[in-house]
Amino acid sequence: MLTLYNSLSHKKEKFKPLAHRRSGQKVKTVRIYTCGPTVYDYAHIGNLRTYVFEDLLRRTLALDGYRVKQVMNITDVDDKIIKKALALRKPISAVTKPYTKLFFGDLEKLNIEKVEYYTPATANIKEMVALIKKLVARGFAYQGEDGSIYFDISKFKSYGKLSGLDRRELKSGARVSADEYGKDNAQDFVLWKAHKPGEPSWPSPWGAGRPGWHIECSAMSMKYLGETLDIHAGAVDLLFPHHENEIAQSEAATGKKFVRYWVHGEHLLVEGQKMSKSLHNIYTLRDLGNKGIEPLAFRYLILTSHYRSKLNFTWESARAAENALNSLREFLRHPSDNLVRAQAAYIRNYEKKFSAFLNKDLNTPEALALTWKVVRDVKLSFKTKKELVLEFDKILGLGLAAVKPLELPVKIKKLIAEREKLRTYKQFVQADGLRRQIELLGYKLEDTPGGPVVS
Ligand code: AMP
Ligand code: ZN
Repeated sequence: MLTLYNSLSHKKEKFKPLAHRRSGQKVKTVRIYTCGPTVYDYAHIGNLRTYVFEDLLRRTLALDGYRVKQVMNITDVDDKIIKKALALRKPISAVTKPYTKLFFGDLEKLNIEKVEYYTPATANIKEMVALIKKLVARGFAYQGEDGSIYFDISKFKSYGKLSGLDRRELKSGARVSADEYGKDNAQDFVLWKAHKPGEPSWPSPWGAGRPGWHIECSAMSMKYLGETLDIHAGAVDLLFPHHENEIAQSEAATGKKFVRYWVHGEHLLVEGQKMSKSLHNIYTLRDLGNKGIEPLAFRYLILTSHYRSKLNFTWESARAAENALNSLREFLRHPSDNLVRAQAAYIRNYEKKFSAFLNKDLNTPEALALTWKVVRDVKLSFKTKKELVLEFDKILGLGLAAVKPLELPVKIKKLIAEREKLRTYKQFVQADGLRRQIELLGYKLEDTPGGPVVS
């Protein structure tokens, strides 16, 4: 059974999806919402760490037999996008379309599975307006003198429960119209921004304008997944204000619990600081490629640390990850056979352990270490090791199934088999003769605990 650390309760909790308890369906569905990218530039590898962690969560749920229904929004209208479009003197779609495409390209390179729904903000304005209307009708939102609509945090009694602000005095009445701000600025936040010249806008009962960032996720998650979600994930920087505001908007509108498990991943750091555009310390997958680090090596690097630990990116650690991944591929490239036949229960134990590690709040470092233990286990045949490693890779997602074994000519295979037979009868001198023959034909032979390896 999966246990997940819930940021709302500050505890690890046993995971049970809602649909399971309610409808008694055979295949249990888990409904997940994950905050997606703002498509005004390349995703940096900090962003990508978060999407890989969410992919691991999704794959672990599938391993546990759940059907996953996941939504990711694409923020395709916001201040940064508008600024860039204005500078280019082009419509916002000229900025968002190419970067959305590049984003999907990055996901593919990292073997991140496609989720069920990717949905752009601009395709859901109607739902956002409807949600804001509800909040106005219920007395949780009001129009400011600037014409924008704000959420009144003083009306939502548990405001701040996710980020711990509920224990502080809040500045109700003061307003913030930016989408991103710090904890010191906990004020009424904007739901609908009144139109400004040069900005794209949509009609609404409060005049032309555009949605704030936070309302986007509440409207889209509830549209696709219903009023109560099983899991909502993102990186820790979204706890406040974004997720706090999502809770306020959604629960104020429905009167129901919005999210049952809040799951947050830690940041990717560079030299001890969060990787972020504003600190000018970002790398993209292209930067990694320029230094000879392939995307899947970066995925490997992510697996080496727990998602709730900070991961400090260095070129040295990236190269070490690349080497480790290549060693796994080398292992699969050189089939060997020995006469070891492990008991079914012994093999099953590896499978159980692997699943137990992941179910322990996604412990990927231990799952990865176990994969290496399989590779090195002298009690397992190559065939069994390969089966186990490829099975594990359905979760790890390192693309190992694509590694083709080195095809040896029939003549070499025969010589190896003959040599193995001689060795079992302890006829080592003759066996050495066959080794020389193999080597004269241009192959290197190495006897390993798992059997002979020819390359
Ligand atoms: P953005 O495109 O800025 O909206 O961010 C997309 C996702 O990346 C969000 O879930 C952020 O929380 C996450 N994120 C941003 N910076 C980092 C970082 N340095 N490490 C991990 N995740 C990050
Ligand atoms: Zn969001």
